[in-house]
Amino acid sequence: MPVRPNLLDYRKACVEFTWDDARAALSGLPGGGLNIAHEAVDRHAAGPLAGHEALRFIRADGSSTSVTFSALALEAARFAGVLEELGVRPGERVFSLLGRVPPLYSAVLGTLKHGSVFCPLFSAFGPEPVRQRLSLGGARVLVTTASLYRRKIAGIRTALPELRHVLLVDADEAPGPDTLDLGALMREVTPAAGTALTGPEDMALLHFTSGTTGTPKGAIHVHDAVAAHYATGRFALDLHPQDIYWCTADPGWVTGTSYGIVAPLVHGVTSIVDEEEMDVDRWYGILAGQRVTVWYTAPTALRLLMKAGTGHAEGHDLSALRFVASVGEPLNPEVVVWGQEAFGLPVHDNWWQTETGGIMIANFPALPIRPGSMGLPLPGVEAALVKRDAADRPVIEDGEAVLVSSPGEVGELALRPGWPSMFRGYLHEDERYRRCFAGGWYLTGDLAKRDPDGYYWFVGRGDDVIKSSGHLIGPFEVESSLMEHPAVAQAGVVGVPDPVAGEMVKAFVELRPGHEPDDALRLEIIGFARKRLGPAVAPRQLDFTPALPRTRSGKILRRLLKARELGLPEGDTSTVEGQ
Ligand code: AMP
Repeated sequence: MPVRPNLLDYRKACVEFTWDDARAALSGLPGGGLNIAHEAVDRHAAGPLAGHEALRFIRADGSSTSVTFSALALEAARFAGVLEELGVRPGERVFSLLGRVPPLYSAVLGTLKHGSVFCPLFSAFGPEPVRQRLSLGGARVLVTTASLYRRKIAGIRTALPELRHVLLVDADEAPGPDTLDLGALMREVTPAAGTALTGPEDMALLHFTSGTTGTPKGAIHVHDAVAAHYATGRFALDLHPQDIYWCTADPGWVTGTSYGIVAPLVHGVTSIVDEEEMDVDRWYGILAGQRVTVWYTAPTALRLLMKAGTGHAEGHDLSALRFVASVGEPLNPEVVVWGQEAFGLPVHDNWWQTETGGIMIANFPALPIRPGSMGLPLPGVEAALVKRDAADRPVIEDGEAVLVSSPGEVGELALRPGWPSMFRGYLHEDERYRRCFAGGWYLTGDLAKRDPDGYYWFVGRGDDVIKSSGHLIGPFEVESSLMEHPAVAQAGVVGVPDPVAGEMVKAFVELRPGHEPDDALRLEIIGFARKRLGPAVAPRQLDFTPALPRTRSGKILRRLLKARELGLPEGDTSTVEGQ
């Protein structure tokens, strides 16, 4: 039977919906306060959904294990009990470096229940990005596996004096003197009796993201974000009580938490969690075999499926699937059209970023899709395009941002502050946070245009940040690592188009005197970067250049490197040294 979309009258909802409506759908803590873990599991565990399947883990061999809401609540209470026993204080940071394995979910929910702050890291990061984030975030606890510990943590452990406890989810043998066996602790502990009395504005989650320059930024999210996770799960992902929902995002990125964990649990739906990495036939097998109804994935994955051909979909019964959404990078119109062929459904693109904590712009199930467009702002979200001046700065007059009014004109995508999942700061970087707001708006750093019906169309990043396979990569981080190699004098890193990954990281390197720019050195430097940064972040391509383009003040002009690489107009080069 066709499912009636939650959002039928978009215009009416935009007028009538308030975030308090979303808050009213939550239960709040007994005695006041708000806690994401309570909304996601405890309240369901105490009601008719107690025995309902919350998570279904698919193992490598295709077999599955299920966890009910009440079992998940108990696991979370055990993890919170472990934190209590270890003397971890509310507000302190608990990090994870894990794939999609069952202990991740107890750790996230247990940390929130305990009132401490959860920060997931991407397990494909190399030791250097891991060290930097653990250190910037002041990690007190790290939950990881024995193998990841050996490969990524053992070598940097002494550089992390603030890290007190490393909990291993699969402690086969003790890989370090300071690691603890989480399984044993969980078995022995007395589960936490209650939930920390957190308020809506208390810090709950920390998500690291990258900028053009400087260190990674720790975006702070608070417990009130759960109101946005609920509302967006309802409007943009159209979650209904009997859904089998599958979010393919890696837990190390914000989508993996907001929509891989919180939103589906808050809605009381069953989530599929595939413990393995992407594989075309495996994925069709899961969609069909698990009778997935709502699927939230990413353009890179869809392009890989498209490249493999619709033949792989044949023989799989995808009739349960009713809604497909995608996020994280531009979704090419061909993929939307191809979705129709492969799944009999179009792909609904939506837009958001780490700082927004939840979906802000979406193609909704009850509205026609514009292939290539990100869609319309969520009810409760006010979006606009701010004009930029010749130096690419937002135009502010008398304290007010000047907005683009004509359809088709490009501006910087901006959001009116005030939605519940808006980031509340960058950890320890107040000035950097303040600079994100101007003229009454939060400036997203993305460039977009709007059509006459109000649909938003992504144009590009307003800065040099790279999006590769959906992962946001700061060029500065990559350049800094390259420059640690003894042969490298200077490095400039840009994103170049790639048909599957969207963008690919490419480095341009100026060598120190006495080094020959040959293939052996090229491979050595790429290998060096991969070891430090991990394969998801390190450059795939590297060109040697006798002199990188710089401004007179010495700043590397990535814009010019990219234009030259792509054979595009070089724009204004008056500030380039030597021109
Ligand atoms: P992250 O903070 O890692 O989630 O990355 C957010 C960035 O990804 C945004 O600022 C955009 O540049 C890009 N992005 C996210 N969703 C979309 C989309 N639907 N279309 C184009 N770019 C997107």
